[in-house]
Amino acid sequence: MSENKDFLHAIVNEDLKSGKYKKVITRFPPEPNGFPHIGHAKSICINFGIASDFNGHCNLRMDDTNPTKEDTKYVEALKDAVQWLGFNWGENVRFTSDYFDKIYDYAIELIKMDKAYVDSVNEEQMRENRGTVTQAGVRSEFANRTIEENLDLFEKMKNGEFKDGEHVLRAKIDMGAANMKLRDPLLYRIRHAHHFRAGDKWCIYPMYDFAHCLSDYIEGVSHSICTLEFENNRDIYNWVLDTLKLELPRPYQHEFARLGINYTVMSKRKLLELVEGKHVDGWDDPRMPTIAGYKRKGYTKESILNFCDQIGVAKANSMVDVAQLEFSIRDDLNKKVPRVMCVLDPLKVTIENYEGSEELDASYYPHDVPKEGTRKVPFSKEIYIERDDFLENPEKGYFRLTPTQAVRLRHGYIISCKEVIKDENGNITEIKAEYYPDSKSGSDTSGIKVKSAIQWLSSKDARQVEVRLYDRLFKNEAPEGIEDLNPDSLKIIKNALIEPAVIEEKIDERFQFERQGYFYADPIDYRDEKPVFNKIVGLKDSWGKKTKKEESKSKNNVKSEIKKQAKNEQVVGEVTAMSGKEKVLFEKYSNELGLNAEVSNILARDEKLSSFYQECLSTLNSPISLANIIVTEVARELKDKEINQLKFTAEQITKLIKILDEGTISSKITKQVFEQMAQSGENPEKIVEDKGLVQISDPAIIGTIIDEVITKNPDNVEKFKAGNKKLLGFFVGQVLKSTSGKANPKVVNQLLAEKLK
Ligand code: ATP
Ligand code: MG
Repeated sequence: MSENKDFLHAIVNEDLKSGKYKKVITRFPPEPNGFPHIGHAKSICINFGIASDFNGHCNLRMDDTNPTKEDTKYVEALKDAVQWLGFNWGENVRFTSDYFDKIYDYAIELIKMDKAYVDSVNEEQMRENRGTVTQAGVRSEFANRTIEENLDLFEKMKNGEFKDGEHVLRAKIDMGAANMKLRDPLLYRIRHAHHFRAGDKWCIYPMYDFAHCLSDYIEGVSHSICTLEFENNRDIYNWVLDTLKLELPRPYQHEFARLGINYTVMSKRKLLELVEGKHVDGWDDPRMPTIAGYKRKGYTKESILNFCDQIGVAKANSMVDVAQLEFSIRDDLNKKVPRVMCVLDPLKVTIENYEGSEELDASYYPHDVPKEGTRKVPFSKEIYIERDDFLENPEKGYFRLTPTQAVRLRHGYIISCKEVIKDENGNITEIKAEYYPDSKSGSDTSGIKVKSAIQWLSSKDARQVEVRLYDRLFKNEAPEGIEDLNPDSLKIIKNALIEPAVIEEKIDERFQFERQGYFYADPIDYRDEKPVFNKIVGLKDSWGKKTKKEESKSKNNVKSEIKKQAKNEQVVGEVTAMSGKEKVLFEKYSNELGLNAEVSNILARDEKLSSFYQECLSTLNSPISLANIIVTEVARELKDKEINQLKFTAEQITKLIKILDEGTISSKITKQVFEQMAQSGENPEKIVEDKGLVQISDPAIIGTIIDEVITKNPDNVEKFKAGNKKLLGFFVGQVLKSTSGKANPKVVNQLLAEKLK
């Protein structure tokens, strides 16, 4: 381990050298309100990694201060994930709720120091009183309550004498602080709710900013490591611990950049939506970016650990290419796992000049660095090959079996095609072939040259298996949610064929199916009578190719190019760093305006786009929607034009976004209207009115359309009701189609869910 391998290691190292701490104690503090995802894996690796690198200790602490969303099943999932990754939290899992008594006592102390007060204004007023970035806030009239009054009220809050929201406890700090988080932040709120551990003991719950620093202190944490979005909370963290004059050493907070991955959503809230909406089969669905999902899919813990190590720890938010994660697992399995043959889409081949049967010797590990281990592969007159390994009319460069081109059966003989048999529809049903007896792999004296070897199975010996082919869950690089789901993310092949040795010898749980990819025996559904394999990852990055192709097809590839640049800069470190001015913009966009890192990056680095954006923002305060249209549609127009050459103005774009935000038009229609604006320069309202593009949100209208769709598709309705919940996407699509994209997707989803019950 290099002691200074990243800036966090450097800080810890320095703190140990200077004697600030004798022992390093970190913690991983998830809220148990969902299954942990790959971003949490990064945090786990950092916190447990630093503790182990410096002979310290890392606590696993459930940050359970929000009674309404938390559950023990999530606690178990978090424990599983940490354990699976190979880390150890010692004897007990910690819970913030274990400290509720102590935290309450600290609150009393603050009140006694006149550093906290019970406030009783309503939420709206409180928001108004907070002021703005440029304007100081006003302290509440209730801040003048005496210490005795405050103690009395706070006790009554605790005893359940008030309703939710009637009072709160606030720190008395500074209503004019530049950091708005310091403007008398909330410390406690009333919540009459059952807590999954504390039961009904409490009806007041501490806020994150109060509970977190104190929990760290109580546990003797030295380095409290969290993600960048907590940067502004650091001042409160310090204020609480300093004001209470707690004994040293006390913990300090350090922030690192959150992990984001393209083609992936990474917030427990969005993941919960996928689970609850049955868009996936639970939290451990192999398509989910949860640790449980990767595990079920067949990822090894080493691949996740390597990935977390490779992406490193940074101070600036970044988007990592999902291909890098896929590379990690491929790289790990490539060296380790046995290689066998599986045929997914069988085509019968009868070898006319072969009689009897034999067993061919085949190595499990024909790797660059071969290992011991072989199995027998039965061979006979009738075999199956992959349907697309034969082409009657091949294009140039096709190296497999054709009417005139021989091919090698992997580990076996060379065969050539004699005759192609077809059914009445012209589909190929069988190949009649011939084999060359002296061409056996390993002792080939035939002198016949072939360009490739293909997988195959003896038809009487092959075993049937179910193969689940997983692809990316989202089709967009920066998915928002369910509207961006990839409809082809799961394909189930019920009757694939595999070598008998795979089922009988069980030499491993993971295999390379030669020429197909890496596969994993599903840990839950696999039965000897009905083996099930999950696709872990393909042999090479097919998406990279796919998107490149699509990009070159479209002439409007400015967005993807900018994106590529941005990505390279962050991941590989090739592109020039941002200038000072660009950095300022980036910070502003990502921290103040809440844009995601990728969008911030695109805008900050492009002067035309950022100035257009600023102009729009000056008339409409809708930073996210504006940014989204500007980095996509507007960027495309500005690719080879100057702003003054555009047909539309910034003001018109704000009008367009305004009617989108108001729900007058759907996001799909927004794009359509934009196209028209870019051509004609007309006002968006006029286009919408002339073409009748107003979004349909009226449940009565949508309901009628849904009824029609349901009547027209009785088969799918039946399948849906029988449990094929993935058909929901089909129904949503049909309704949107019959309204030309005008139906409000939210309403459609809701009504469909009701009507298909
Ligand atoms: P989400 O928004 O996905 O629900 P969270 O931040 O609310 O995540 P917590 O359970 O509160 O999740 O987080 C536990 C720890 O994991 C925190 O220290 C948090 O900073 C860290 N963490 C969460 N998401 C990421 C991520 N994408 N990259 C790195 N660390 C993360
Ligand atoms: Mg959270």
